[in-house]
Amino acid sequence: MDKLRAALLGATGMVGQRFVKLLTGHRMFELTVLAASPRSAGKRYREAAHWCVEGDVPEEVADLRVVRVGLEEVRREDEVDVVFSAIPSELAREIEPEFARAGIPVISDASAFRMEEDVPILIGEVNPDHLKLVKLQARRGWRSFIVTSPNCTTNELMIALKPLMDRFGIRRVIVSTMQALSGAGWTGVPSMAIADNVIPYIRNEEEKVEREALKILGRFDGSRIVPAELEISASCHRVNVLEGHLEAVFVELSRGADVEEVKEAMRKFRGRPQELGLPTAPENPIIVREEEDRPQPRLDRYAGGGMSIVVGRVRRDKVLENGVKFLVLGHNTIRGAAGNAILNAELAVSEGYI
Ligand code: NAP
Repeated sequence: MDKLRAALLGATGMVGQRFVKLLTGHRMFELTVLAASPRSAGKRYREAAHWCVEGDVPEEVADLRVVRVGLEEVRREDEVDVVFSAIPSELAREIEPEFARAGIPVISDASAFRMEEDVPILIGEVNPDHLKLVKLQARRGWRSFIVTSPNCTTNELMIALKPLMDRFGIRRVIVSTMQALSGAGWTGVPSMAIADNVIPYIRNEEEKVEREALKILGRFDGSRIVPAELEISASCHRVNVLEGHLEAVFVELSRGADVEEVKEAMRKFRGRPQELGLPTAPENPIIVREEEDRPQPRLDRYAGGGMSIVVGRVRRDKVLENGVKFLVLGHNTIRGAAGNAILNAELAVSEGYI
């Protein structure tokens, strides 16, 4: 097939750079327009981006002129087939519908539309059928649609929980996070605040995890998502790690299961992206490690090209009924953002939505 032409909004940011890296040489999509703030507009990409991803700025895009974020600005450069969005949420609320209305699908990492009833929060392996929701967006008068990805912290937690929910049922989840600096974006956390420190609070993060989870694990009944019936409590913290969110998870299952069964359910877990052989789908969505000191951000964040999550220290929890506890690690700007969005776009193409 001919490659689909793609614009990237927020191309210079932490997530935008990941998109650039992952879309270079992609077999379905070609980045033809890079957009960012007025601060970057007019500069060549290599000058505009504070490049902080491994390797150099890819040659294919290094000399593209960055344009301002906006439908007209993007259209002046190219008639794109799809838009990837990694801009701040307040801006996404205003800009993303312009594209959807004009018939250009938006695959977004921003939180602006996640909780809208007709917008899926999509993880290819977890809730691929929620993609059907986008048909309801025609009621808004849009010729195309918006698909969102979850918050980075929610993403890896959902992948870890999905096989447990399917096999044993889940009643309650408690999660305590150790989140990387890149999760806060390029200007996110001042170095004087985080060096030699842990910040025990991330604004709005716990609320996002708790409400997105019930929607993602919910059931699409043909007209809406019926939220999952489980209780979830999150405590979120920023640590001095560049990439990779680590989470300590405590789960009350609906029925008793031994630790080996839990590990087996996770190891065997596969989803629609693996079935379809999508380019960004990792062979193993969940890697379960046996060492007592894994997963670790530095050692495990690039598992499966950053698209696998890594689980370790799976053990029985004695406080919760039918309790298990474990650690899970995911690469926040790959699995938790750009990689997940690209996988969503691949799924939407393969299922005939784009
Ligand atoms: P970031 O590093 O701060 O990058 C923000 C991007 O948006 C930059 O390209 C910036 O352009 C552009 N931008 C900022 N203000 C703008 C404006 N007024 N007009 C047009 N463009 C503007 O942030 P990020 O971490 O990449 O996050 C991007 C989005 O992804 C956010 O919605 C965030 O919540 C979401 N997200 C992030 C992560 C993560 O792990 N970081 C994970 C999941 C979701 P300039 O460079 O020109 O300023």
